[in-house]
Amino acid sequence: DFDSSLYYLEAKDIATLHKTFNRFSYKGDMGKILLVGGSPGKMGALILCSKSALRTGSGLVTCHMEDSERIIIQTAVPEAMASWGLIPNPEFYDAVGIGPGWGTENRARLFRQFLNDFKKPIVIDADGLNLLARNPDLLPLVPKNSVLTPHIGEFTRLVGKAINHLERLKLAKKFALDNELILVLKGANTVVSMPDGRQVVNSTGNKYMATGGSGDVLTGMITSYLGMGYAAENAALCGVFHHGLAGEIASKSKRRSMIASDIIEAISETYIQLDI
Ligand code: AMP
Ligand code: MG
Repeated sequence: DFDSSLYYLEAKDIATLHKTFNRFSYKGDMGKILLVGGSPGKMGALILCSKSALRTGSGLVTCHMEDSERIIIQTAVPEAMASWGLIPNPEFYDAVGIGPGWGTENRARLFRQFLNDFKKPIVIDADGLNLLARNPDLLPLVPKNSVLTPHIGEFTRLVGKAINHLERLKLAKKFALDNELILVLKGANTVVSMPDGRQVVNSTGNKYMATGGSGDVLTGMITSYLGMGYAAENAALCGVFHHGLAGEIASKSKRRSMIASDIIEAISETYIQLDI
């Protein structure tokens, strides 16, 4: 039954999904985003996520983390701003991405408070997803059309166990429909499940992307597009397509030695190849 609403996303589809900016654009048009994550020992996730958002095109990126870790971001990513303590007034931000390297200890209260304040779609990844899995009362608070980006392990914790991948895709479809969310099930062929039941299979990417930090790069990209004012579905589709294409481009010279930072450095080449 879901075959009728299954779509294969290719390069020819992408240009029309992108917003265009003109010569009078200023950094405010390019999106002010907030990335919440990082914790001692996992700051790399937030570094990758914020660099990725900047390379994708965000105008202003702020990273929120524990007080003790702020020097790390300020040093590793001079283009990003740092914030700590209470999550800053979400009104100020066009989009928020939450979860990379965040940890799950003592985060549920902060997450609940944030979800009560912020009504626009957000991107939730990694420990943000693990928190949703552990605290089912949080899920109904997630703004509709938010983008959730689990890999199979996170998916299983959040949505449930499936006997095979086809069954998993059915669970994904139902989850997106029931919760009015966009679910990006990551893997060799990432599948994006839409709140109306459509499912889109991404065509880009390769096995060399199976390396630590790849997913954090994707979170930065989707949050970046959301911040530029893309509809959440388009932000998710542009994110997965450009992320996979960047992986293909980087792996041409890196092969199995590719690391997540190489994917970030190849984002610019995706725009050149697609003339965006
Ligand atoms: P994460 O597990 O959160 O780091 O996310 C891994 C990222 O790399 C996702 O965007 C996956 O789609 C991508 N990825 C991992 N393995 C592969 C693979 N074998 N082929 C294509 N993409 C992959
Ligand atoms: Mg991940």
